[in-house]
Amino acid sequence: MTRDPLAIWLRDVVGRAGFSGVDEFAQHFELKPYRLRQLYRAATKELLESVDDVTTLPKDLRAALVARGVAFSAIEPIVLQHSQDGQTTKGLFRLDDGKEVEAVLIEHRGGRTTLCLSSQAGCAFACAFCSTGQGGFNRNLTAGEIFDQAWFFARRIAPDGKRLTNVVFMGMGEPFHNYDAVMDAVALLNDPQGFGLGHRHITISTVGLVDKIDAFADEHLQVNLAISLHAPTDALRSRFMPVNRRFPLPILMAACERYVTKTNRKVFFEYVMLAGVNDDAVCARALAELMRGRLYHVNLIPYNTTPDAPFVATSDAKIWEFAAILDEARVPVTVRQNMGRDIAAACGQLQAETQPKAHAVPSQAQRSGARMP
Ligand code: SAH
Repeated sequence: MTRDPLAIWLRDVVGRAGFSGVDEFAQHFELKPYRLRQLYRAATKELLESVDDVTTLPKDLRAALVARGVAFSAIEPIVLQHSQDGQTTKGLFRLDDGKEVEAVLIEHRGGRTTLCLSSQAGCAFACAFCSTGQGGFNRNLTAGEIFDQAWFFARRIAPDGKRLTNVVFMGMGEPFHNYDAVMDAVALLNDPQGFGLGHRHITISTVGLVDKIDAFADEHLQVNLAISLHAPTDALRSRFMPVNRRFPLPILMAACERYVTKTNRKVFFEYVMLAGVNDDAVCARALAELMRGRLYHVNLIPYNTTPDAPFVATSDAKIWEFAAILDEARVPVTVRQNMGRDIAAACGQLQAETQPKAHAVPSQAQRSGARMP
């Protein structure tokens, strides 16, 4: 299935302004196709803030579009929080219907930037260790609402001469539970005529929805796939990941093998380290067995505390012991660097609705010309 980024972007923008589709919108304003491309390019490539800034359009037309409520962004930043070390920024965004989502920007030393964005408001999968999972499911985001998180942070760092170098679908929600919108958002992020982020710089993380892993393999994209594994046996995984009852490990691992065979791309397995639960040598050896000999990579994640969850983080020393067992078994393994814990921006800590609304973001009008705090 080909996904046309221009059509995807326009569909969201004109829909929000109350048009039934792009044709009605184009007729209403008597817009030729090149005008539509100008709008798209101004927003997604030049990262202009609003229709009013698109000086290639006649002034009257700009005014008419603005008056009708045609706006580039579907999401409104409400709160921005910065970690002590200055490397992590968490944004809380309000959607049109008042629902809220969070996204986290990590500015690594050396210039690399990673944006962790949300694909749903809430999540339906209820992983016991994840804060989002405990809050339940609200709704799917549209492709535009997903893309706009990247658009917001790209605009924010542009004055520093920076751009987004990596995007990971590891915020709120299960990307493969909102498959079409996520793949549309990937098309928007990737478009060389627009935002221009390479597929290899995008990673989708899933609880392991097997039918969608197959669909994703068939797309033959260079986008990275990460699986939230977290346990090497069905008995253990089912204890804290209800999805495992629907797609048990043999079925999940078979889908991963099909993916590697079809795409010849590596699969990343995330494994959150929960003290006394999944972090002993027996688990490490069982995990090594599951990973052996294939194009697989294990990423160990230090557990980040979440409200009311009955889990404790494994000590760093024990994480490295666990990693050493995998390493000896020749399984490629890394330990995820922990960022943004002090502002509850680390993996699994995003919950939006419960965050303090302390440092409000200035309104659009106050913001023009000045950087946000
Ligand atoms: N729904 C997707 C993406 C969201 S979470 C998925 O499950 O993959 C991104 C990663 O953070 C997942 O591997 C998730 O299991 C992990 N995670 C969730 N809660 C966490 C916590 N409290 N500490 C550390 N990692 C956590």
